[in-house]
Amino acid sequence: MINAKLNNCCGCGACAYVCPVGAIKLNEDAEGFLYPEIDSGVCISCNKCDSVCPFSNERLNGKKPLSVFGFKHSSDDIRLESSSGGFFTALSDEILNSGGAVYGSVYNENFDVVHNRAVCKAERDKMRGSKYVQSDISNIFPLIKKDLDDGRNVLFVGTPCQVSGVKRAFSGCSDLITCDVICHGVPSPELWRAFRRHFEKKQACKFKEIYIRDTHNTAEGHITRAVTEDGKEYKTKDYVNLFFTNNPLRPSCYHCPFTTLNRDSDFTMGDFWGIEKNHYSMKDEKGVSFCFANTGAATEILKKINDEGVFFEASSDDSLQPQLYHPCKKPLVRKAFWKDYYKKDIDFLIEKYVVKKYGIRLKLFISKILNIILHR
Ligand SMILES: Cc1cc2nc3c(=O)[nH]c(=O)nc-3n(C[C@H](O)[C@H](O)[C@H](O)COP(=O)(O)OP(=O)(O)OC[C@H]3O[C@@H](n4cnc5c(N)ncnc54)[C@H](O)[C@@H]3O)c2cc1C
Repeated sequence: MINAKLNNCCGCGACAYVCPVGAIKLNEDAEGFLYPEIDSGVCISCNKCDSVCPFSNERLNGKKPLSVFGFKHSSDDIRLESSSGGFFTALSDEILNSGGAVYGSVYNENFDVVHNRAVCKAERDKMRGSKYVQSDISNIFPLIKKDLDDGRNVLFVGTPCQVSGVKRAFSGCSDLITCDVICHGVPSPELWRAFRRHFEKKQACKFKEIYIRDTHNTAEGHITRAVTEDGKEYKTKDYVNLFFTNNPLRPSCYHCPFTTLNRDSDFTMGDFWGIEKNHYSMKDEKGVSFCFANTGAATEILKKINDEGVFFEASSDDSLQPQLYHPCKKPLVRKAFWKDYYKKDIDFLIEKYVVKKYGIRLKLFISKILNIILHR
């Protein structure tokens, strides 16, 4: 029976999907993250849940990428709509053109982040853009199963742990192609909801659209953009700044076994941070993708999408990507952050953990030194 604890559960929901007797339900904890709850009265101890858990098993693919490359989509408009260089669009176009289905992350009608299915470009386009919050994939397993049973090619895009859960749930299906993002870690859906509530209340507005990372603002860094029902536009860095304190990340992200060059996915994609170091001529404000082809299947697909843009050879250390080597460190103040979250408001969190972050670090450092001195 699966033993899901804070540090070793990524909430992918593969366990709940494969349970033959429906003994596993996913429940949200106070931070908004999903965890499986097992009804031991119903469980038949078949251990199927354990066999698909990304954290309980050996890695699927222990090999380094077969090739590493940079990519710029040939359409500037597509790159402007994408977070990086538009590799996702090139790859998903190939799947859609073959009559396949694409699974990726979208904002639902409440602006919560969930995975969805797309069989046409208009549906797929809604998946563009990085959403810095954990996407709920629990509802898409039966849809993927049906697509695979119907003989469709399926592309699943998600975080490396989600890819691992999906691949295990459908192991042996050669029609399933997966692509993971290089992942800094996934923030709390609860914080994202609270941020939206706070923003709407403060500005006395109602959102019509909101994008955690506005893809049009590459030069200004990561900016959240909202359009209100009365047509006003707001931009803020507050949410992304909170994300980058690492306090809102899922507890398992600090212990992530997927922060390595050995990927479970067919493809890996990210932002080409630090492109100027070795590929200065390719630097471009509209975004460049940094990608890996990890399997033979990926290499075959690459041949088919060769004309979609500019591909250039790179090496794995050409881009500044700490999360290809180790997980984010759990901040010493994470507990205090969540305590403050339950008692105070978003402005307070920003002031304390973003604006005055050096003050907090200094306080922690001094108290550590004092502790050592007092113990001596
Ligand atoms: C939580 C998170 C952390 C990331 N951390 C890094 C990092 O540290 N370094 C780095 O180089 N790149 C990181 N990325 C990836 C990067 O921001 C781009 O998403 C990636 O380069 C794809 O760019 P694109 O132009 O090809 O895709 P786009 O056309 O913008 O498409 C984005 C793709 O990402 C998927 N996606 C978006 N949000 C989520 C989500 N919450 N969960 C799962 N899938 C999602 C969509 O389904 C879509 O397929 C991160 C992305 C996410 C979602």
